[in-house]
Amino acid sequence: MINMEELTGKHVDYLNKVINNKQKKRRTVLEKIKPYITSRYAKYQSKKSTLEDINASEIPLDVPSDKINKKYSLIHMYDSQEQYAREYLKEMKELLKEGIICPYCGLTESKQIDHFLPKSKFPEFSLYLPNMIVICSDCNKSKDNIAIDTTTNTRYVLNPYHDLDIYKYDFIECEIIPPYEASKFKIKICDDLTSTQKMLCLEHIKTVEIEKKIITLWRNYFDELSRRLKKNYKKNKNKYTDKEMMENFKEIIIDEIDTKNIEKNIIHKSLFLGCANNQALLKYWLTIFKD
Ligand SMILES: [Zn+2]
Repeated sequence: MINMEELTGKHVDYLNKVINNKQKKRRTVLEKIKPYITSRYAKYQSKKSTLEDINASEIPLDVPSDKINKKYSLIHMYDSQEQYAREYLKEMKELLKEGIICPYCGLTESKQIDHFLPKSKFPEFSLYLPNMIVICSDCNKSKDNIAIDTTTNTRYVLNPYHDLDIYKYDFIECEIIPPYEASKFKIKICDDLTSTQKMLCLEHIKTVEIEKKIITLWRNYFDELSRRLKKNYKKNKNKYTDKEMMENFKEIIIDEIDTKNIEKNIIHKSLFLGCANNQALLKYWLTIFKD
């Protein structure tokens, strides 16, 4: 996961460079609102894990009264097709480590920059690096503009830079419920978290549709896992008692976590642990292999 320290300071450089490179009319507008932008940066910095307390933007977000609209100018700092802006974007993606595992779902490779506070509602943060997180396209689609509700000060998504207290745990626990060929899943949050943290995690799971991802994963792995366990059963059925055989199944599944290199992947891991610790499921396999 990216370290917040790596981002410190750079955003003001980007802001200055982008503003200085704009054409005169737009530059004048941006220069005028620059003190507001930097004061908002400072606010963001001070809120850290209480990002939901950042109040709504004071930049008028509705119909422009001037020919050069402030909100648009701010968003345009990021979206601009000018060559220098594209170069910044490339640099930012490198800095933000494009290609790491998506910190929202912990499953897919990150390819897109998400503005944690969406630029449509918080345009002053469009170029602010600590507001940018590289995530996968699925999560980007699911999250859309709903990270924070400024009317109720409620946050619906975890922030990988600020919620380190949560991210240090494998916070998702997954219980597999029969029928196993087309399972349902009960998702629980790790007991070491506070009730507020648990609530936020549950909102996060709902927002980025983690359950849907678990269902797909299970669909992909169920047959493969069944085949492996069956092979093992046939080889060892005369050697082990039922209880030992189930222990053996458990070891094979735990072993998958290492061989598939999914130690850092919280969904994968929770699914396999949920599988290995599910006595009823291990017994189910034993019974169908016997038939
Ligand atoms: Zn994702």
